[in-house]
Amino acid sequence: MAIDSKTLHSKLKEFFGFDSFKGDQEKIIAHLVSGKDAFVLMPTGGGKSLCYQLPALVMDGTAIVISPLIALMKNQVDAIRGFVAENDGIAHFLNSSLSKAQLTEVREDLLSGVTKLLYVAPESLTKAENVEMLKEIKISFYAVDEAHCISEWGHDFRPEYRRIRSIIDAIGPAPIIALTATATPKVQSDILKNLGIQDAKVFKSSFNRPNLYYEIRDKSDPKRDIIKFIRQNPGKSGIIYCLSRKKVEELAELLNINGIKALPYHAGLDAKTRAENQDRFLMEEIDVIVATIAFGMGIDKPDVRFVIHYDIPKSLEGYYQETGRAGRDGGEGKCIAFYSYKDIVKLEKFMQGKPVAEQEIGKQLLLETMAYAESNQCRRKLLMNYFGEDYTYDNCGSCDNCLNPKKQFDGQEEMSLIIELIESMPEHFKLEHLANILAGESNALIKSYEHDKLELFGAGKDHSVRFWCDVIHQGIVRHFLEKDIEAYGLIHVTDKGREFYEHPYEIMLTEERQFVDGEDDDDEISVQGAKAGGGGGDQVLLAMLKELRSDLSKKLHLQPWILFGDPALEDMSITYPVTVDELKNCQGVGEGKARKYGKEFIALIAKYVEENEIERPDDFVVKSIGNPSSANKLFIIQGIDRKLSLEDIAAAKGLEMEELLTEIETIVASGTKLDLDYYISQTVDDDVVDEIYDYFKEEAESDSLQDAMDELGPDYDEFEVRLVRIKFLCEVAN
Ligand code: ADP
Ligand code: MG
Ligand code: ZN
Repeated sequence: MAIDSKTLHSKLKEFFGFDSFKGDQEKIIAHLVSGKDAFVLMPTGGGKSLCYQLPALVMDGTAIVISPLIALMKNQVDAIRGFVAENDGIAHFLNSSLSKAQLTEVREDLLSGVTKLLYVAPESLTKAENVEMLKEIKISFYAVDEAHCISEWGHDFRPEYRRIRSIIDAIGPAPIIALTATATPKVQSDILKNLGIQDAKVFKSSFNRPNLYYEIRDKSDPKRDIIKFIRQNPGKSGIIYCLSRKKVEELAELLNINGIKALPYHAGLDAKTRAENQDRFLMEEIDVIVATIAFGMGIDKPDVRFVIHYDIPKSLEGYYQETGRAGRDGGEGKCIAFYSYKDIVKLEKFMQGKPVAEQEIGKQLLLETMAYAESNQCRRKLLMNYFGEDYTYDNCGSCDNCLNPKKQFDGQEEMSLIIELIESMPEHFKLEHLANILAGESNALIKSYEHDKLELFGAGKDHSVRFWCDVIHQGIVRHFLEKDIEAYGLIHVTDKGREFYEHPYEIMLTEERQFVDGEDDDDEISVQGAKAGGGGGDQVLLAMLKELRSDLSKKLHLQPWILFGDPALEDMSITYPVTVDELKNCQGVGEGKARKYGKEFIALIAKYVEENEIERPDDFVVKSIGNPSSANKLFIIQGIDRKLSLEDIAAAKGLEMEELLTEIETIVASGTKLDLDYYISQTVDDDVVDEIYDYFKEEAESDSLQDAMDELGPDYDEFEVRLVRIKFLCEVAN
């Protein structure tokens, strides 16, 4: 069947309302309509769907569209029905979510020939009764969307995708079009081979996204960096990816406590909450979504301005797919990933015990990621080359390595020294151990092996252990060295490494790698050193602030602790806040408190800064979640916002009331204002509320609960006192 260009254009207009084709769409469609196989590689948002939707509508028979995402199927089908309004039967989907009645309807429409597009999940396609049914109808062609799912080398492997070819054979032959947005040469060849369409014409668009900026950052204090970055980009939408649910919850909470509107998204949340959070992001009620990789497939928000990877991803394919969600409208899109070698080791640990083949693949993918992160070359060029595309410019002008080139040196002697050391020992050792030997740093392990007596011990003592670790990383990345993951990461020399040792050549290494050894990760938020030890701030200023607090408390007839706690004053003496916004970043200071009592304090600080010509630090304090951190705080804040009863909130999170109250107290102590009046007025007698309230306002010397109970006496219920204390702190102190 041949359809001319004019007809295709008029159908494009008629069905979809578009005036022209995008990129290669027309060529691809003409090719498919003429009955030939096609392989389409197009970046996300390139317009792949149209490449099979339009042909399906103009060709005889029904097109079978295989797609992995049940949720997306319904959207796609609805969209098609929207375009071609006269008949809902024109498109259907077949997956496990359909009822008996719905299935019957689909079957009838298929057999009567009204259905032009049938979306199927691969699991449904393998069912015998479906295969039997499809045998009876005329198939125009098969479309395999998200075709990278076929390959173990992709980031989203689905074993059912492997069976597609045999099922197609069972149903009956028709042209095949495979489509994907991510494919390295390896994945490409997997797809073609597995679908048995080696002769398919390949349509490949460039994957370069010129508007995206790529940067890899040292993961020494990622939370702080992220908060700082978001504050510098107010009002912009962004996605932050983390590898674990726990981290997602924690980070979302931390951002909120630091005044950033963020919500979590991960597979552990119930479907309703997930949908709600996603909607609030799309509707721009919140700025940031913190998510595991589960988020983003199929959402189309064109103006995502940044994508941050809190953890380095497991593969560059995944990384590229996720960064691809930034700047789809062609506008700004900053892609920042945090990297520490420790994370690589962590990911390697997850692979231990997996089947060898899977481990090999995982290891390769991870190595590519590590090479990318540690490289000093243009990130764009590395990515394009990884996806099998030439990128010939030396400076893209939009990645960290191009904008801030790092100093390099020829490391052939250093690399040779490492290889010599490894080859000189009968056993294999870990990376740090080797680095210690060369740097001449002894420790118990080195002594036990008597490695401090080796000839090469200290042979590289001009450099630090850190330096030698870096060079070994580079050796791994360049395939001179290899790490055995199963065997605790012992380092071997490869054939390529031995060859290099025999005939060394120039290898340019980065001089000062900025990457630190570890990162805060599972620990508490790092707070400035000064605070941990206490008294590291400006002592003169601190004394002045305390005096001001004392004067002001007399004037306002409020206890000093109600104005600002000592931690807040200490923070002020470190960061010199001179605006209300800056003041809000101090411990225990929320919006309300900063506005209510802050004016005099910032005036005093501003004057002090000016008179003493103090350079204010370009720094700020990250408010911590409080310990022990729980992932419940965000839920609690939102629940109280929606005026849920405390019993319901506690039940939803499996907490005792006592535990819930403690959580609420921590939230309030961090400076967040909560309005519990709706609950208190229903559960505590008005007079009792007034009495407790007055005690805190007039008599209390601190917010101590013990003192309050002693003072108020046994007639008062501790739970009620705590509730009113929260109310008081929120109304007067916060
Ligand atoms: P992909 O599957 O490649 O990520 P989609 O098929 O979802 O991309 O298309 C992305 C967007 O481009 C959609 O909003 C779609 O309506 C739009 N689009 C596709 N083809 C055209 C066209 N020829 N003209 C204008 N917009 C188009
Ligand atoms: Mg698509
Ligand atoms: Zn570059």
